[in-house]
Amino acid sequence: MRKIVVASGNKGKISEISEILKDLPLEIIPMSDLWNPVPDIEENGTTFFDNARIKADYVFNRSGLWALADDSGLEVDSLGGEPGVYSARYAGVQGDNEANNLLLLKKLNGIPHHLRTARFRCVMVLKTGESDYITSEGTCDGYIGFEQKGRMGFGYDPLFTPVQETLTFAELSSEKKNQISHRGKALTHLCRKLHEFDL
Ligand code: IMP
Repeated sequence: MRKIVVASGNKGKISEISEILKDLPLEIIPMSDLWNPVPDIEENGTTFFDNARIKADYVFNRSGLWALADDSGLEVDSLGGEPGVYSARYAGVQGDNEANNLLLLKKLNGIPHHLRTARFRCVMVLKTGESDYITSEGTCDGYIGFEQKGRMGFGYDPLFTPVQETLTFAELSSEKKNQISHRGKALTHLCRKLHEFDL
């Protein structure tokens, strides 16, 4: 079976990837199975694609195995696409979800519902050779709320309601979220591409 190392330490992401790719002859290996501690790869690209490629390159070069990396974030239209690649550290501290959400609410203060459009975007990069990559992308359109709602998920989930829903991502089950999320869509596209590939 072809081995693929996932360039992430996030268990939720790894199980989602394994679930969606389960019909393919692939062994999905978390980066934590290869290295302890898991290396902290600096994501200093200016696009989601750059950041995903930086992570895939790092893991491929160190492991010699196919490497899958993703990068994702939130783009808010009335803020010119902010926070974008800075989503995880919008308020200054990496991974401070509460501060990021409060900053986003502050920046959107006074902006009415119809101008609070946004989307999550996810880019996946699978490095299969020295200069060979398979890429895919997924988006999920929605609106930013006026207050945080719900306790599930992570990041901006309590502020984001997908267009076809009335509940925020943080109020939806993870199953439902995976069906419509940017990451779920990017993975489904990748899965389709891999079905046509000689594994
Ligand atoms: P990563 O690419 O998964 O590391 O995500 C980068 C940042 O984007 C996260 O820290 C979150 O702030 C935001 N983000 C990405 N995907 C989601 C999601 O599904 N829900 C909420 N926030 C997300």
